[in-house]
Amino acid sequence: MTGTTVPTTMRASVLLKQGVVEMQERPVPAPGDGEVLVRVGSVGVCGSDVHYYKHGRIGDMVVTAPIVLGHEVSGTVVSVGRGVPESRVGDRVAIDPQVPCRQCRQCKTGRSNLCPFMEFYATPPFDGTFCDYVTAPADQAYTVPDSLSDESAALLEPLSVGLWAAHKADVGPGDQVLIAGAGPIGAMCAQAVRARGATDVVVTDFVDSRRERITSFGATRALHPVADAEEIAALRADAFIDCSGATPAVLSGISSTRGGGTVVLVGLGAEEMPLPVQLIATREISVTGVFRYIDTWPRGIALTTSGAVHLDDMVTARYPLEQVEDALNADSDPLSMKAVVVVNAPEGN
Ligand SMILES: [Zn+2]
Ligand SMILES: [Zn+2]
Repeated sequence: MTGTTVPTTMRASVLLKQGVVEMQERPVPAPGDGEVLVRVGSVGVCGSDVHYYKHGRIGDMVVTAPIVLGHEVSGTVVSVGRGVPESRVGDRVAIDPQVPCRQCRQCKTGRSNLCPFMEFYATPPFDGTFCDYVTAPADQAYTVPDSLSDESAALLEPLSVGLWAAHKADVGPGDQVLIAGAGPIGAMCAQAVRARGATDVVVTDFVDSRRERITSFGATRALHPVADAEEIAALRADAFIDCSGATPAVLSGISSTRGGGTVVLVGLGAEEMPLPVQLIATREISVTGVFRYIDTWPRGIALTTSGAVHLDDMVTARYPLEQVEDALNADSDPLSMKAVVVVNAPEGN
């Protein structure tokens, strides 16, 4: 291991069990072969972090031992493992948090996001990034330009969900896209489909303030699911992306999708719901899901740097590492869009 001087211990915010967070001192990890050690800058708070904190599990992924949450992360490379050029030390990076096995059939056939052996920050038993230092494969730590803030760089992760959803929806120039849910992921999807050339981006949400805000994040129209039900029913969208997880929104979205169109399920709500299979069959609608993403960081960096996508404006609250618990409770405020934990402020500030 080579690089600048790194301390031997660090701060880490640890979820001991459901609802209990504690600051601990932990050893700084050493970068293995092909890895970089990154001093963490900013970490976005994700719905999955909140879910682990409040419920102790997501489906069959259960918190059975203390875990560090956080996976939307940016920072600075401070040392490199064997096989990584030392010139990377000092790079400001955004990390794609996926470590697929690169050996299995899914990995070898271009579906590494579905690798059954995936290691992912803050998914039990793997620790996340609410701490001072993390390791990552060097090729998953993408160098970002100086014009991109630490916060924008961290939010390339949720943007990646939007980019992958837009890719799965096969959105093209001039398309009409319906999106249910104007929360952070709805906003990422709206920006992503606009960047792919969609010209009519209709976003639905019950909350007035979210509808007002979403027109600054890619939406061309923001509609109320009930008050504007007729307008929604009249749509024949090229693609429908659900970011709400709400059964009525999914059903209405499917019936507002044109023949041959695509439905992408991003939001997770009910484990099962009845689907209008005859309508799906007779309209030849493709229904698919989204699980993580593949190789979205280079596009995300390009789109954010060029100004096609705005991530800084999405941050509505900031917390120091000692206040991770407050950050995990920030979503109870309906005006909250995205909370960020500033683990280490940029140098010079
Ligand atoms: Zn996330
Ligand atoms: Zn694999």
